[in-house]
Amino acid sequence: MPSLPYPHVCKSIRVLLGCLMLLLACKPSVRQAAQRTNQQESLGKPYVVLVSIDGFRHDYVQQHELKHFKQIAAEGVAATAMVPAFPSKTFPNHYTIATGLYPEHHGIVANTFYDPEKGQTYRIRDREKVEDGSWYGGTPLWVLAEQQGMLAASFFWVGSEADVQGVRPTYYYRYDQSIPNETRVDQVIDWLKMEESQRPHLITLYFSDIDSKGHDFGPGSPELAEALERMDRLIADLDQKLQALDLPVNLIVTSDHGMTLVDQKHPIRLNEMIKLDDFQPAPNGAMYMLYAQDQQKIETAYHQLLPLADRFDVYKKEDIPDYLHFRASNRIGDLLLIAHPPYIITDRPGIFPRSKGEHGYDPHEVEDMHTIFYAKGPAFKKGMLVPAFENIHLYPLIAHILQLTPPPTDGRLEVLKPVLAEENE
Ligand code: AMP
Ligand code: ZN
Ligand code: ZN
Repeated sequence: MPSLPYPHVCKSIRVLLGCLMLLLACKPSVRQAAQRTNQQESLGKPYVVLVSIDGFRHDYVQQHELKHFKQIAAEGVAATAMVPAFPSKTFPNHYTIATGLYPEHHGIVANTFYDPEKGQTYRIRDREKVEDGSWYGGTPLWVLAEQQGMLAASFFWVGSEADVQGVRPTYYYRYDQSIPNETRVDQVIDWLKMEESQRPHLITLYFSDIDSKGHDFGPGSPELAEALERMDRLIADLDQKLQALDLPVNLIVTSDHGMTLVDQKHPIRLNEMIKLDDFQPAPNGAMYMLYAQDQQKIETAYHQLLPLADRFDVYKKEDIPDYLHFRASNRIGDLLLIAHPPYIITDRPGIFPRSKGEHGYDPHEVEDMHTIFYAKGPAFKKGMLVPAFENIHLYPLIAHILQLTPPPTDGRLEVLKPVLAEENE
């Protein structure tokens, strides 16, 4: 217990002061990248609030009868599903949504990966790397906005804490899972209440609870069902508060990937199949990458794995199928293993998967990896349902709504142009 401040005042006041200090220490502090203002030509432009609810599977809304999501679909646009990029993990996909690039083009190729040029491994819990812009390629939406004279803000998004191309959103937070979701929503509203020249036009917002409950208890669990109910109410609250602002705000609610039930008892034990010491390993649960300089070691391991590959696919890098868009980066391993659900790859003896639910599988083969797209606001048509599309296409859509000029990406505006209200004219 830390010693209480101000020994000369009476105990109850000291306790009160101590509590106040603790409270102040807990209050998250927004970071301001720079003292910027919107350029004149940005002032009349629309607003976009881009929300990601990590691990929100495509069928949760129907399965759990989430009425506020359904309401957004009725008042705006929904997709039957959104298809994540491979691997269907958090970091590659949030950064794909942010850049419109497949992971092989933006460089965040997994949650854990090795960079042979840097001679270093990127891990999502390594704050120094997560906040180091040199790991991140492409032009994330907030960088695009700031470069074109429009302010951006982020209450979390993968990459937003890093100096990508030397730029951070004007307002941002360092990732801290403990900040209550309601606090995040209130901050978004406060940003939109700022004086026009300082008000961000692009705001990202991120929630982790649905992914966490999916991992800990599995899809189909009462714990996840309860978290979904809470999220439904939170999104309704956000929507209602946005409407009360009387600004041209467009709300997009999406996610990075889905979730599927895991067989925790029968992991794929890589350590029993090959000599792992020969490689730099990058474990990612449902997928696993191995790096080696020695071509002979790659060949040997590949031929050892091939006859054992009944519950997973194994590829030498050059043979990874085109449809995965997962070759054109030196951060992709020389060998790639992709588990088939419900199996998980482990590399240490005696270790069983901790998670009841997982993701990371091939999103083109495993429908459970598909996720959501809901949107409403003046930019969108009303009551439109569109077929499944790949998440690379969100980038040109958002750039278009914000009247920004995007660089070439893997996404194409034509794919989502039909959802725009202007298409009626
Ligand atoms: P996974 O389910 O393994 O793909 O990773 C999801 C985890 O990523 C969640 O538990 C989040 O807490 C974490 N996460 C999300 N955004 C960030 C961020 N900006 N920095 C660090 N960790 C994050
Ligand atoms: Zn995720
Ligand atoms: Zn997850």
